[in-house]
Amino acid sequence: MPEPPSAESPPVRPAVTPSAATSVSAASAAPASTASGAPAPAASAWPAGFRFAAIGDFGDAGPDEQRVAELVKAFHPELVITLGDNNYPTGGADTIDRNIGQYYAEFIGSYRGHYGKGASENRFFPALGNHDWYTDGAAPYLDYFTLPGNERYYTFSRGPIDFFALDSDPHEPDGTNAQSKQAAWLKAEAAKAHGAWQIAYMHHPPYSSGPHGSTLETEWPYREWGIDLVLAGHDHTYERAVENGLTFLVNGLGGAHEYEFKAAVPGSLFRYQAEHGAQLAVATKDELRITFVNVDGVRIDEVVLRHEH
Ligand SMILES: [Zn+2]
Repeated sequence: MPEPPSAESPPVRPAVTPSAATSVSAASAAPASTASGAPAPAASAWPAGFRFAAIGDFGDAGPDEQRVAELVKAFHPELVITLGDNNYPTGGADTIDRNIGQYYAEFIGSYRGHYGKGASENRFFPALGNHDWYTDGAAPYLDYFTLPGNERYYTFSRGPIDFFALDSDPHEPDGTNAQSKQAAWLKAEAAKAHGAWQIAYMHHPPYSSGPHGSTLETEWPYREWGIDLVLAGHDHTYERAVENGLTFLVNGLGGAHEYEFKAAVPGSLFRYQAEHGAQLAVATKDELRITFVNVDGVRIDEVVLRHEH
């Protein structure tokens, strides 16, 4: 495990605009309140624990993706997960390194692109989005990354967390609904998991108030299967919803242009889309804290999940 960030670590940039957003956290078992809408503390001031970053709908080379990548690096995460749409516009081999490696090569294992030497051990765990599937068989993506399992959906464990990357795209050969081979795989793998936290992530959001809306196909019984948190993208928004006691977060603000919201879905508790940003999660075996921070360094929303003992 890397050393915690030192005092010399570049701080998350201070807020340059006041935030109108306020929120309290949501939790499945033991709710805890955390004020937000305040400038993010310096990277070294985040609580101790295992850290990862999550970005969605980011693979669109340019200044917006650049700013999000700088934010992510200031988090000093041990790994980065993605919520799909890694490579706009069509998942092509000709654009993939410019869209991903240009900004995130230092996290990518077995890296063979043009932006440095990559990571000695993979620290970049993407999920497939619809744009990644627009090239036949998502071949450029599968060639570019070296991932566990079949690389389309897979599990890995780091720190106190078991991660489950899902492929929510209709092109997925093993299906995407709750009766699919993929869903049976998740149920079986989650039952075997022994980390403190189980997190599922994918591209198409089960619940979303954005223009794409909720994806019925991906509304699986996650909680019954032992999942603690579900992350998704696709709508270029940030949203927190709670359904059946489980927190669902949408984050599609990684670089592509922001979307406007439609009418709020019933379980929606918080919505934001004014600026790009990324999520930082800090986990110990007792607490999982996940914060959406915008590119101005403002903490927009935070969820704290706690295990009861
Ligand atoms: Zn998408």
